[in-house]
Amino acid sequence: MEPSSNTMIIQPKTRGFICTTSHPDGCAANVQEQIDYVKSKGPIEGGPKSVLVIGASAGYGLASRIVPAFASGANTLGLFFEKPGTEKKTGSAGWYNTAAFEKAAAAEGLFAKSLNGDAFSHESKAQAIEIIKNEMGGKVDLVVYSLASPRRTDPDTGEVYKSVLKTTGGDYTNKTLNTDKGLVQEVTIGAATEEEITNTVKVMGGDDWELWMNALEGAGVLADGVKTVAYSYIGPELTWPIYTDGTIGRAKKDVEAACARIDAALRETHSGAAFVSVNKALVTQASSAIPVVPLYISILYKEMKAKGNHEGCIEQMQRLFADRLYGGDLALDEAGRIRLDDWEMEPGIQAAVAEAWDRVSTETINELTDFKGYQEEFLKLFGFGLEGVDYGAEADPETAPPSLAG
Ligand code: NAD
Repeated sequence: MEPSSNTMIIQPKTRGFICTTSHPDGCAANVQEQIDYVKSKGPIEGGPKSVLVIGASAGYGLASRIVPAFASGANTLGLFFEKPGTEKKTGSAGWYNTAAFEKAAAAEGLFAKSLNGDAFSHESKAQAIEIIKNEMGGKVDLVVYSLASPRRTDPDTGEVYKSVLKTTGGDYTNKTLNTDKGLVQEVTIGAATEEEITNTVKVMGGDDWELWMNALEGAGVLADGVKTVAYSYIGPELTWPIYTDGTIGRAKKDVEAACARIDAALRETHSGAAFVSVNKALVTQASSAIPVVPLYISILYKEMKAKGNHEGCIEQMQRLFADRLYGGDLALDEAGRIRLDDWEMEPGIQAAVAEAWDRVSTETINELTDFKGYQEEFLKLFGFGLEGVDYGAEADPETAPPSLAG
């Protein structure tokens, strides 16, 4: 598509834990940084060649698309739910991230096509299968499931389920960070009803992942030796009431149960395998919406940066592909999960986090946490604060992924 003639100066507009504007050139710089990192680590021998990423435009999913493309020359199909920009309004960051990704992939002669739609629908599954059949040599050898969604429309009944972030026990009170104002406050999170738990499992559980794998298998588009991976989180005890033992944790248990079924089926039919990878807590659009977690992340970043083992999404995913999925050492835990939260959960790191947690207040936020780093990372998600980008210059809000440009 030709660049549109409507350009504008784009500044961040944050409201609570969202930023309502995104910068196309900043998002491109962010994607390029990730590509440069992957290239600096060198090729991944035996890595995947034909990859479907569900939830491919931001966070862990975007990194899961960048790594196979630029470390093993993979053709990729990415599915996501993002908003294109218009003459007057910026698009969502994932839209611009994908525009940059597709251009960089094309420059290296890689196939990169995207679908913007609802991953939960039958239609998206059918469209993805058509593209795999007609344009990707008929098979994929890796399927990454990295959705984070607040709601799901059941594809058969049309019923809409909403997920909640609540406990599954009683009320839980702890410190939280007002990331807009830099205030450490107390928050009380109530218990979910049985219906809310069921609905959260419907949205963030393993059902849709399994529907995807069944649809792909039924269409005959899975390669022999195919792998599939979905992402989870566990974290330290202090966040368990809201995460691991909360509604979202119930959904993640359901993802693990689905993983066991998908794995058994893939082993039999394709000598394939399914995995859950437990990743590190990181600033993403999804995690910034969870109470308590942003304060934990701010402290964690400080401790891990001090120790020199801090990672972002791209470092985590590079390690997942290079060392675990295609590196010959899955290093599974007792429950059969890949653990990329190994450095986060190191006893020394967790002891330091727990100590800072007890002492942290609004007054000590800059001393005990990396709140500055948190804020920088948050803005970066939307393409702001990147080196080499002139934020005083006009940018084109209608920048679009070539495969989706109208
Ligand atoms: P994110 O918000 O950065 O990205 C979510 C992706 O899902 C985007 O590409 C978005 O477009 C897509 N999406 C949302 N709804 C969709 C829909 N209906 N149809 C199609 N696409 C849709 O999220 P993230 O933090 O990278 O999370 C991805 C996965 O990683 C989740 O399963 C999450 O639980 C897990 N995880 C996250 C963290 C963390 O700290 N962020 C840690 C461990 C595991």
